Amino acid sequence: MDTAYLSLDAAGRDRWIRNRRPDRLPVDPRRPYAFVEEAELGPDGTLWSTAVVFLTNGECAFGCLMCDLWRQTLRRQAGPTPCSPQIAAVVPQPQRYRMVKLYNAGSFFDPAVINPSEYDAILAAVGGVRRVVVECHPAFLNRHFRDFAARCRHTGVELEVAMGLETADPVALARLNKRMSVEDFESGVAAVRREGAFARAFVLVRAPWQSEADGRRWALESIRLAQAAGCDAVTMIPTRAGNGAMDRLLETGEWAPPALSTVESLLAESLHVNSGRVFVDDWDLERLATCRDCGPDRVGAIRMMNRTQRPVAPLACGSGCRP
Ligand code: SF4
Ligand SMILES: [Zn+2]
Repeated sequence: MDTAYLSLDAAGRDRWIRNRRPDRLPVDPRRPYAFVEEAELGPDGTLWSTAVVFLTNGECAFGCLMCDLWRQTLRRQAGPTPCSPQIAAVVPQPQRYRMVKLYNAGSFFDPAVINPSEYDAILAAVGGVRRVVVECHPAFLNRHFRDFAARCRHTGVELEVAMGLETADPVALARLNKRMSVEDFESGVAAVRREGAFARAFVLVRAPWQSEADGRRWALESIRLAQAAGCDAVTMIPTRAGNGAMDRLLETGEWAPPALSTVESLLAESLHVNSGRVFVDDWDLERLATCRDCGPDRVGAIRMMNRTQRPVAPLACGSGCRP
């Protein structure tokens, strides 16, 4: 059994994805929908204290097949939402951090969700940090991006732009409804670097219609491509259900989440290559820890590799759940 998704045109795929959506989650436009503190190994080899602010704002202009970020957004028609008060609400002393990530579940330089007139206030709200990280689809690397990059240079703060490459597999990428090619991603990294900013790539582990082995192979290839394009860091994101569309693909056998051992070995292998920092998004990683014997230890090994950027040998499992 399969869905009819692959036989649809772009507009049909968009409808197919949106028609399966569960309800949005309640959010308050005055507050970030989440906030975490973390320590990330920085480019200088030291641990950078980092604040991650998940800003509440309007929904992304795109509707990617695997994306569930829209659940914590407001309707796009609501217009731009003030962000600097949200940042101040959770980061009253930004100078305590080396880095602040401002993730807005879409494109930071999309003027329909973040008003460019607020850029100075946003930079004031993160005053004293060394680096600010924002996320953006390459299609929104526009004049607002160049304006913000110039303001960052002027205030002496480093800018890093995180972009979803998702997968270097051109067939799988086209199926994601992201409206972006591998070449668009590479051009986006070049545009970021031209402004003196740093680039980070998000890479999926096991896109829909990829087998476990193909998902592993393409994740490695995607990391290699992102590093060659000039990305300063790569963050792997294990695909997950929960947005309606992915749940349907799980039912029909067109997608399955990656095994935790695959994620673990991917991280170890890419750190062995030693071509740049590679991380795994460990949010909710426990959901992949399906084996009671080795699951918690694998999660621990991934978090350890994230923190140290040193590979560890793959864990053997007493239950033999995975090789
Ligand atoms: S561009 Fe990013 S935020 Fe927007 S729908 Fe796609 S994955 Fe989600
Ligand atoms: Zn096991």
